[in-house]
Amino acid sequence: MISKKMEELGKKSSVIREIFEYGKKRKAELGEDKVFDFSLGNPSIPAPQKFTETLRSLIDNSCPTALHGYTSAPGDMGVREAIAADISSRFGASASATDIYMTCGAAASLTITLHALINEGDEVVLLAPFFPEYRVFCEKAGARVKVVYCREPDFLPGREQLAAAITEKTKAIIINSPNNPTGVIIPTEKMLEIAEVLKNKAKEYGTDIYIIADEPYRELSYEMEVPYIPNLYDNTVVCYSYSKSLSLPGERIGYIFVSPKAAAASDLFAAVCGAGRSLGFVCAPSLMQYAVRECIGLTADVEEYRQNRDLLYSALCDMGFSAIHPDGAFYLFLKAPNGNAEDFCEKAKKYELLLVPGDSFGGEGYVRISYCVSREQIEHSLPAFRKLAKDCMGEK
Ligand code: PLP
Repeated sequence: MISKKMEELGKKSSVIREIFEYGKKRKAELGEDKVFDFSLGNPSIPAPQKFTETLRSLIDNSCPTALHGYTSAPGDMGVREAIAADISSRFGASASATDIYMTCGAAASLTITLHALINEGDEVVLLAPFFPEYRVFCEKAGARVKVVYCREPDFLPGREQLAAAITEKTKAIIINSPNNPTGVIIPTEKMLEIAEVLKNKAKEYGTDIYIIADEPYRELSYEMEVPYIPNLYDNTVVCYSYSKSLSLPGERIGYIFVSPKAAAASDLFAAVCGAGRSLGFVCAPSLMQYAVRECIGLTADVEEYRQNRDLLYSALCDMGFSAIHPDGAFYLFLKAPNGNAEDFCEKAKKYELLLVPGDSFGGEGYVRISYCVSREQIEHSLPAFRKLAKDCMGEK
């Protein structure tokens, strides 16, 4: 018999994907410019020019069998050295090549890290709202999920709620800052508070609790600094991806950084290698490894997203909607006026606005609007949002 669990997962696509597929159908019926699809987190800004030039140069000037061949299982040593040097110089964290494991993006970084850490029955704390795939990744690794709900006014975790969620079985907490779907960045003081709660609880239970820092949006921060968690909490594993920072989601490239200050760091790194091996995530795409090495320190033009955020946020607030002001990432989390996100998204469809209900993120009553779209799409969608506002809240 085939695995029922996997069959179910395969048959039930994510809500985001369902809305995206619906949007493709509507666009085919009405025309591309008549449908305002705000569903996916697919970067709208091209990768930096240097990335394209680097690819050309690598293809023109490298030995093809080396360029397209297997690297070492954790990645090419030169690439890992360059990434470690960047982490050390940018954040002042001590990192070596042997702490870095190259992956196929943040999703692979997370699944490998979870498999490296979890023994059957361990618990992982998630801060809601969270990227819905976390639940799938955690459960596949054998973990039980404990959710801490972060709500208004700041969508940050409360000290007491966090402490109450931690038990002797807690192995890790996933922290995603800047956050998908709220855009919230956890400030240093709050990170220190989280670190203190984890340290106290670990001491109380005589355990090690790890922070898994899921950081695909680290570079997408508009005004605030994003604290580097390994500098604030020793037991940290960073799951990084170039999907958003270099606009390369289809290329599947990222890395894991196991902080050398973490408890049992070298055993944990060995477990990361073992998990990568057992999941078949070895030798991340070699061309992409070499290309990102040449692009260290570069990001796609984040200013474009900031302008999208400002335009959309102020227009929606003027219409009477209320939303969390995003500090980073490229999502706006909007309050459904009647408190029912599913109803609100259905209503939005009448105006060809495709929004994602927050329920699957653990953010009931809110909808996610991805503003990694063209400026024109935002401008052209505003009359539709105005009609939606009138429909939901009456004349302003
Ligand atoms: N984590 C978060 C919070 C995300 O939003 C995403 C993708 O949107 C991922 C992980 C997966 O990223 P990647 O495409 O690099 O696997």
